[in-house]
Amino acid sequence: MIRTLLCRKCCGTFIFLFSGIFLLSGVAFAQTQLPNVKLFTTGGTIQSVGDHRQKLMEYSAGKVGPVELINDLPELKKIANITYLEESNIGSGSMDAKILLKLAKDINEWLAQPESSGAVVTHGTGTLEETAYFLNLVIKSDKPVMVVGAMRPFSAVSRDGPFNLLNAVRVAASPDARGFGVMIMLNDEINAARETTKSNTYRVDTFVARDMGPLGYTDSDRIVFYRKPTYRHTSKSEFDVSDLKDLPRVDVTYVYQESDATTIKAFIKAGAKGIVLTDNDDEAIKKGQKKGVVFVKGDRKGSGRVAESEKQAGLGIVTSDNLPPHKARILLRLALTKTKDPKEIQRMFNEY
Ligand code: ASP
Repeated sequence: MIRTLLCRKCCGTFIFLFSGIFLLSGVAFAQTQLPNVKLFTTGGTIQSVGDHRQKLMEYSAGKVGPVELINDLPELKKIANITYLEESNIGSGSMDAKILLKLAKDINEWLAQPESSGAVVTHGTGTLEETAYFLNLVIKSDKPVMVVGAMRPFSAVSRDGPFNLLNAVRVAASPDARGFGVMIMLNDEINAARETTKSNTYRVDTFVARDMGPLGYTDSDRIVFYRKPTYRHTSKSEFDVSDLKDLPRVDVTYVYQESDATTIKAFIKAGAKGIVLTDNDDEAIKKGQKKGVVFVKGDRKGSGRVAESEKQAGLGIVTSDNLPPHKARILLRLALTKTKDPKEIQRMFNEY
């Protein structure tokens, strides 16, 4: 190659270009020594600021951007080459289908690049598990995707966000973390998106996989995994959002003493294509089914299965396995992008 270049008239230019390429590739080589992790920020407490350092509630969302998060952690430079994309800077109660779909498409695009190692998503903890489960169903890669939040704002004395983020990047950068689906990272615990729920309003150990326990831990010496999720996810999922612009409306009703069918009727009137219930109201369900609404039976207890039964199947009602109602809603939304057949949707609830 050098000889070819020197044969040309402008050999000086070519030698310069050649050494430039060499230098550039040297830089590229130095960078590829580290894994490439992209940070997708959406907001939440991890990006919030309170009035003073002891303020752990009533802080303002949307204050800390991705650059500040990254600059706050010089340690990241030793773990991975970090790039970032700000998707939003909102409290997780404002998360919607539009942001979710764009987030999934952006992560899929990033992970499809051969040089990418993993992805980290910042998120408010309130609905973090819903986004994590959604991504678990639509990301088309085995590379690790970590969803991370914090229980204390960025401004707090003993804030948990930075260590959570550092640990999320450690896992996202690790080839050992491939094939586990989307994971949730807080409090040194690596949890599976499908299995994990926020269980406490304020404590830092809020995320628990009640029926299962964590997948592993981010200890100082190394990352340890003890088990793998068995239900279908990510690269083995049949759901594809690449051409979707919106998701079908699915609502959740909550049953308590003396509750009636008012919410079911109201959701159907509002255009619900699916409803997750925590108990049956046979009359309202029959009317809804005639209008093409699909019903899934969940439970309000937060752990344990809603098992398949002949009775529910006979009524055309899908059962939700051990998904809590708000996660059954996510799966039903995606299921409805493919079919309205309760039997086929039941198969999906048994597999995902
Ligand atoms: N309100 C916050 C949210 O869900 C709570 C949090 O991020 O921890 O966005």
